[in-house]
This record gives sequence, structure tokens and C-alpha cells, in this order.
Amino acid sequence: MEELILVRYGEVALKGGNRSFFINRLVRNISNALNGIEHRIIKDRGRILVVLPEGSLKLAEAVNRLKKVFGIVSFSRVVKVEKDLHVIKQKALEMVEKQQPDTFKVESRRADKAFPIKSPEICRQVGAYILENSENIRVDVHQPELLINIEIREGAYIFAGQEKGSGGLPTGTGGRGLLLLSGGIDSPVAGWMVAKRGVELEAVHFHSFPFTSERAKQKVIDIAEVLAGYIGGIRLHMVSLTDIQGSINRHCPAEQSTILTRRFMMRIAERIAEETKALALVTGESLGQVASQTLESIYVTDTSVGLPVFRPLLGMDKVEIIDRAREIDTYELSIQPYEDCCTLFLPEHPETRPKLEKILQSESHLEVEPLIRQAVETREILSL
Ligand code: ATP
Ligand code: MG
Repeated sequence: MEELILVRYGEVALKGGNRSFFINRLVRNISNALNGIEHRIIKDRGRILVVLPEGSLKLAEAVNRLKKVFGIVSFSRVVKVEKDLHVIKQKALEMVEKQQPDTFKVESRRADKAFPIKSPEICRQVGAYILENSENIRVDVHQPELLINIEIREGAYIFAGQEKGSGGLPTGTGGRGLLLLSGGIDSPVAGWMVAKRGVELEAVHFHSFPFTSERAKQKVIDIAEVLAGYIGGIRLHMVSLTDIQGSINRHCPAEQSTILTRRFMMRIAERIAEETKALALVTGESLGQVASQTLESIYVTDTSVGLPVFRPLLGMDKVEIIDRAREIDTYELSIQPYEDCCTLFLPEHPETRPKLEKILQSESHLEVEPLIRQAVETREILSL
């Protein structure tokens, strides 16, 4: 028998006229995620059915990949049989015989209204059949050891239990954003959270080669690859800040270097966003976490760009961010100890309450536009 996975998508079903757009995109994303695994996909009345060939050795791998696809609320491995009550009873009994639970319950859903027997009656008849044909088992409607689900759709699907998916909305249904991706713990989580709402991501990373190493670069690539696993690929723009940081160090007060650098990062990101048609920048800032993340610093940073800047971690504590980083498998990569371009040039006493006029005055000593243009033009682009 073929291996079947029944996929449920909650929120996308609510999107009115856009419904088929959302579902088609979800189907495409599932198909991409299963790249290299033989499968076919069937749309069936508010569900998606993923079919793998009989005896497929890739079933566990397919399930793992499905867990990452945004827009999937939950899924179950199912057995499909004829829409014939006797066959359904037989199959349900087999499940009981295999698992030998002390208690059970049958739940049923009749999506195909042409099927003549209503759900409560299906439950009753299948339940009675199981009781008649097995010993030492009883019904427990509150906490059954085995919950048998029967769904009447294109076929009759029988399954026990379900696994949680990532939730959210299918990638690609929410426009495009540009993530400022450092090698730290926070920004990958920020990217994941925005991607979860359907936003397609590109990423930009700033390095200070040769002051930052090849290993530091590889670390960011590794993190971006984990993100790519959730959204079916990502382009990573690698931008050198070496000249800009040199120029800032030569011409501006040391305590302003962090905020000045951040304004350059934002402006460079905005240029790249224009090219890639991204409509928002995304960062991993969380209010008050470090010197550059005070409200004053965020204000001075944001005045350098016109695009909206999303900070999905703004209200989260570090422990919450770390928990999420663990869940999405970026934490272990992020804590590898390779130097970052910001920490490298970190002043001893960074300004925590920068004043915009003073920062603008310092910038007037810099060749802002040529520096930005050079950084954008000499960037390296990787497709992951
Ligand atoms: P993270 O854990 O994401 O590195 P952080 O707590 O270290 O964040 P900052 O160093 O102040 O905080 O950086 C704030 C945000 O600025 C980061 O989350 C990221 O979005 C962006 N950022 C910082 N450094 C870089 C970099 N080298 N390249 C790209 N973006 C960066
Ligand atoms: Mg950092």
C-alpha cells in the first residue's frame, strides 16, 4: 500500500477570495520541500494528501521536512480504504489489534456529504464492531489511550493522532523582506518569525574581512542554510564594511562608531532591498538588550532609511529567544565563537543615548554615498 500523509492547513482556509492562491502556493512549497523524494500531492476538500510509493524508505525524512513547511497546522500518517463501512470497521479493528490499548474512542468526520452514513452513526457502528470483536477493551470518551479518526473524503482515511506542523502562512504569500543576518542568536529567529507569516526572505550579512575570518563567514552561511530549509531557499548578500569602519574610525568620535556603523548597514540594506524588490528590513533587535538597542539608538538608526524596519523580537526576553533558536535549530550554530564585525570595532564606551544632530554632524565628515555605493557594488551573492 502507498504511504499517505494527510496535511491540515488552518489559517489559509480563512483567506476568502485568496484561498486558492494560498493553497496552490502551499502545495508548491510542499513539493519543493520534498525535492528528491518521490511523491505526488492531491488536494482533497480542505486537506492536502501527500502520497509516497509503497514501502518508501523516505517516509521519516518526508515527515521531518513537512514539519518545517509554513502554513501546515498538523499532519497525520493515514491509511486509505474504500468508502465502505464494513471495510472501515475491519481496518479500525486491525489498528486496535496492533496497538492493544485498554481504552479507545472513535471520532469521525464526513467531508463527503454524498456518503450516506452520518458521522455520529459511523462512530457508533465502528465502536460497536470493535467492542464485539476484541476483549479487555472499553470506550473512554475523555482520555482514550487510542483515538481512532475516520475521515470520509475522496476515500475513507483512518488514522490515530496527529503531529504539529510549523503553523503560520505559506512562504511567498506575504511579499518579500530583507533580513539583516549576523552570526548571532537573534537575527535568525527574527527571520524565521517573519518568514512564518508568509514573507519570502533574502538576507544580507556584513563582514570586515580580513579582520573577520573565513570561519565567521561560513558560520553565517550555515545559519542561512538552516533558514533556507524552512522557506525553500534564500539568497545571501555578503557585504564588506571594512572601508566604512576604517573611515568612521578615522573621522568620528569612538563612542559613536556603533551607531554610525548601524546607519550604514541600514542604508546598504535598503539599497539591496530596492534591487531585490523587498518591502521591509528585518532585524533581530530586542528593546534594551545592548547599547545600540535603546529606544534612542533605534530612533537614530531608523531615520537613515525610508523602508519599514521589522523587529519581531522587540518584546521578547533573551531566554525566550534562545528557546526559539533551539527549536528552529540555529542555536548551536549561533553560539560558535567566531568574531563579528560589530564586536570587533566595539568602542569601550558606546553611546547609549545618541543625539541625531550630532550623528548627522559626524556623518558630514564622511563620504557617505560613495562608501555605500562601493559596498553595494562589491558585494558577493550566494544562493542557498
Ligand atoms: P544578533 O544575535 O542577531 O547578532 P545582537 O543581540 O548581537 O543580535 P546587535 O549586534 O546589536 O544585536 O545587532 C542587532 C541586529 O542588527 C541583529 O539582530 C541583526 O539583524 C543586525 N546585525 C548586526 N550585525 C550584523 C551583521 N554583521 N550583518 C548583518 N546584520 C547584522
Ligand atoms: Mg550580534
